[in-house]
Amino acid sequence: MRTENIFIEQILKPSQMDICFSEKCNLNCRYCFVNKTSTDVLNLKTVKKAIDTFYVLPNKDKTITFTTSEPFLYPDMFIGAVRHIFARADEKNINIRVVATTNGVLLNKKMRDFVASLDNRFTLNFSLDGDKKSHDLHRKFRGNSHDSSFEKAVQNFGQLLKRKNVRVITTVTPETAEYVRNNAQFIAGKKFINMDIFPQMFTIWPEKKLATLRKGLDRLVDDFNSGKIKGNLRLLNRLWGATHYAKILLGSDGKTYLFEWVLPLKYAQRKAYIIGDAGKINMQKRQALFELLFDAIEKKTNNKCRTCTRQSFCSNPLPLYLWSIYNKKDFAVYFKNFCQMAKIMVDASKKIKHKNKLDSDKWEKNASMRKAK
Ligand code: SF4
Repeated sequence: MRTENIFIEQILKPSQMDICFSEKCNLNCRYCFVNKTSTDVLNLKTVKKAIDTFYVLPNKDKTITFTTSEPFLYPDMFIGAVRHIFARADEKNINIRVVATTNGVLLNKKMRDFVASLDNRFTLNFSLDGDKKSHDLHRKFRGNSHDSSFEKAVQNFGQLLKRKNVRVITTVTPETAEYVRNNAQFIAGKKFINMDIFPQMFTIWPEKKLATLRKGLDRLVDDFNSGKIKGNLRLLNRLWGATHYAKILLGSDGKTYLFEWVLPLKYAQRKAYIIGDAGKINMQKRQALFELLFDAIEKKTNNKCRTCTRQSFCSNPLPLYLWSIYNKKDFAVYFKNFCQMAKIMVDASKKIKHKNKLDSDKWEKNASMRKAK
């Protein structure tokens, strides 16, 4: 492993585990990155075992997420897993954060009551793309593209009283770029105070749409900075937060994988990225795989990311690289486009005055890593 790599700490001490109960979903969102070629479903015994294994890894600050599938398709497994996570964390004195991402359609009374009973170590991410028009454009029901998933989801969330632990996750696409500011205003108008915006990946953004997005985000950041829109805005979560080196994935087959970004690959293609199972994780293999991927990307990009001033915020485009080679796409074309997008997202994020604590910590950590490099 190259010691000069600024992500080495995250690679050697993964602080996050993403749990994918299954690749089934009640919706069929056009931009979903999960390939959905596995038919496996996890069971609670395996999930608990993987949590215990993850807790043995060094690092007292940990995050466990249910963000790569719709967790409320499996309410009892979800409740059992979350209870186990908190009970074991208390026993082992681990500083744990739990995040679940839902499309909201299955957020019934039982689940609302359960999430409302959890303390502030838990965050519920609500995937909401803005108003009905933007949301329903991409977020269709599986097997029924006519009914609105927006209405059901907003109705369910409207009844969730404990909103301080709710964060809205908005995906913006080339088709909805021009509405980014309006959609944020709409979300804030629904009294959601925490908002993440990130652009659709694995697609080419035309120049015109990139310019539209840049303009929309600039205005939006001004709205937040001036207090016109109240709340907390994040633009560098997930891919852009350079956090994927810190994550491992528990797949629906009970295997642990390099990270969540193997999910865009077909199930058979992911085998090369297995690093263990629920009971054991091979950290040496994790290191070796990342090293191979870094080498490949450096060759493909002529070292562009390694010398880039935005690298510690944008990371380098590893997910895009994996997706493009397995889908026979021209990586060079996608990389160029991705890089333009990275510039927009990082630069807009820099202008946000009131970052929340997590983001501020991340900025400081990244800035110090950059200096140390
Ligand atoms: S902004 Fe471009 S060159 Fe810089 S790290 Fe991101 S993808 Fe690489």
